[in-house]
Amino acid sequence: KQREKHNLVSLVTEVGVLLNSQAVMKSIQIKTTIDDDPLFIYCDDTKVKQVIINLVKNAIEVMENGTIHISVKKNDNLAVLSIKDEGPGIPKDILGNIGQPFFTTKKEGTGLGLIISFNIIRSHGGTIDLQSKEGAGTTFTIKLPIVEYRD
Ligand code: ADP
Ligand code: MG
Repeated sequence: KQREKHNLVSLVTEVGVLLNSQAVMKSIQIKTTIDDDPLFIYCDDTKVKQVIINLVKNAIEVMENGTIHISVKKNDNLAVLSIKDEGPGIPKDILGNIGQPFFTTKKEGTGLGLIISFNIIRSHGGTIDLQSKEGAGTTFTIKLPIVEYRD
């Protein structure tokens, strides 16, 4: 699919709407904090939405209840998207396995969602980091270049 200019804020909002009922069924709230201004990135919108879906679904899957915090903001020439959960976090000894193909801790997991997401972000010239501490939740941070950036 051809890449085009898309507003990351809209993509995030769309995914929030899409996954909200799934979250509500588990007594999970999706809280989205967005910039007032649009943040345009050059992307295949389907693929970027797939990444956001993968990460938010992972968050829903590890939580019993609580809040998933999603924020989108601008930092210099980068759009910064973070997805923070209140799940159990990732134990230190398995952190190194995260993002390896087929690594899953789920009974019916594929272990492919993260590696696909990492590859999509990388192919869009972005970065993806994760911060996790056992018992203190997990945060994924995605940075993507903003198009037509001016001061
Ligand atoms: P799957 O969801 O099919 O297991 P993923 O690639 O999406 O595959 O995730 C791989 C593994 O990474 C998961 O099985 C889980 O162990 C870990 N993981 C991913 N996201 C989270 C998260 N938000 N909190 C805790 N563990 C996570
Ligand atoms: Mg997954």
